[in-house]
Amino acid sequence: MQKTIEKLKELTKDVVLLEHAVATLSWDQETYMPPKAIGEKGEQLALLQGILHEKITSSDIGKLLDDLGADDNNPAGKSDSLSPTNSAYIKETYRQYKIQTRLSKKLVTDLALETSLSQASWIEARKKSDFSLFQPHLEKVLELTKQKAEAVGYKETPYDALLDEFEPWSTTKEVADIFNSTQPWLTDFIGKIKNSKQVDDSFLLKDFDISKQEIFGRKVLQDMGYTYDRGRLDVSVHPFTTTLGKDDIRLTTRYQKDFFKTGLFGIIHECGHGLYELGFGDKVRGNLLASGTSLGIHESQSRTWENVIGRSMSFWKYYYPELQKYFPENLTGISLNEFYRGINKVEPSLIRVEADEVTYNLHIILRFQLEQELISGALSAGDLPDAWNKKTKDFFGITPDTDANGVLQDIHWPMGAFGYFPTYALGNLYSAQFSSVMEKDINVNESLENGNLSDILDWLRNKIHIHGASKSAEELVLDISGEKLNPEYFKKYLENKYKQIYNL
Ligand code: ZN
Repeated sequence: MQKTIEKLKELTKDVVLLEHAVATLSWDQETYMPPKAIGEKGEQLALLQGILHEKITSSDIGKLLDDLGADDNNPAGKSDSLSPTNSAYIKETYRQYKIQTRLSKKLVTDLALETSLSQASWIEARKKSDFSLFQPHLEKVLELTKQKAEAVGYKETPYDALLDEFEPWSTTKEVADIFNSTQPWLTDFIGKIKNSKQVDDSFLLKDFDISKQEIFGRKVLQDMGYTYDRGRLDVSVHPFTTTLGKDDIRLTTRYQKDFFKTGLFGIIHECGHGLYELGFGDKVRGNLLASGTSLGIHESQSRTWENVIGRSMSFWKYYYPELQKYFPENLTGISLNEFYRGINKVEPSLIRVEADEVTYNLHIILRFQLEQELISGALSAGDLPDAWNKKTKDFFGITPDTDANGVLQDIHWPMGAFGYFPTYALGNLYSAQFSSVMEKDINVNESLENGNLSDILDWLRNKIHIHGASKSAEELVLDISGEKLNPEYFKKYLENKYKQIYNL
């Protein structure tokens, strides 16, 4: 048995190495690649992805999984004498093997081709704010995505198959139940905030010197525990974190004159993702389990650092005097309390990525509802803009002025990533639940006020990072908090924070 597992680990090591090679090319494409290199870069990526598909679907891996007794009913195999990590290893290999073998090579390459064309059309459509340029491509991508869901298989709804790619082992119904229980509460809470006196954040929208933004951002990164012997920080159009190797986890950001929306909080957010990947324990590091166990859990790490910590009063009690020294022209005369309220301003808005933490989940619920209708066929691609605008009006009381600021704002559908959006909202919910336990275990506020971020990192490492994907999202949240994902933690978190900010 042990020998079979060792053999399986040996074969899947190539999968991990290839994934890191793909990530290296993609990182290059997003950062330093000269524009004319895009053509061959695409071919290089497609070639590697084809090899990757062959590797993970190889009959050798299939035979080993068979020998271990892994099937749909027993994805972790049949032996009960295995260590939890080895069981998890079989389960994760089986999950990837099963999905990939059910997809024909033709479907995989058709999807790769159509989504690259559709992304190109989306960039154009977004620039011109003309949905009709994107619509025929969306129709093709939707058709192929539906085929993919049928090929992968599902228990209740095709959306289950798509969601599983990003949030393994969870179902559409579970997610819908959680969202349905938060939506009315959120709408009501936002209404209360709307009826109270709005905070002033005009001082945040001034010109913040970009070279100083970078120095300050890097200082916070270092304090958070990010080190350059295993990572880098570079600039890209869309900030992201990517893993190029077990000791090579890179972050990107972008600097705009307004420091806070995408700059500083973007750096802190991406660093939260990076610290998760840097913190995998020896049992999972560098192997197939060296990944976030789900995108929801991954996002919980970035959102904990960005919002629970980075937008807290205690964090700024320590950092604000320092920040004022960096930007005296903008922040002299602005009190800590004014600053704190400014960075936590709540306001219904059109753009998801700029949304505050109270309205953010509504943006996700909107997309989750629409994409289910697109996949089920209840909504056609052509009717999507009207449906989008109507829902935005229902949810936020505002209507997008253009499709660019509405239905065309996100890259996920153009790239065929249906089932991805819910993980953002789940991340916020997991974050609140984990943080409530962390605050019982350690004195978070006292640490923050002393500029000590290492207690927090240690807690996250030992409870979450160390496990990689060897525990599922559900196992993690049960182990840490004693219960399943429960949106009440998120409601309580928002209530405590914003009742004080808005004098509710
Ligand atoms: Zn993120």
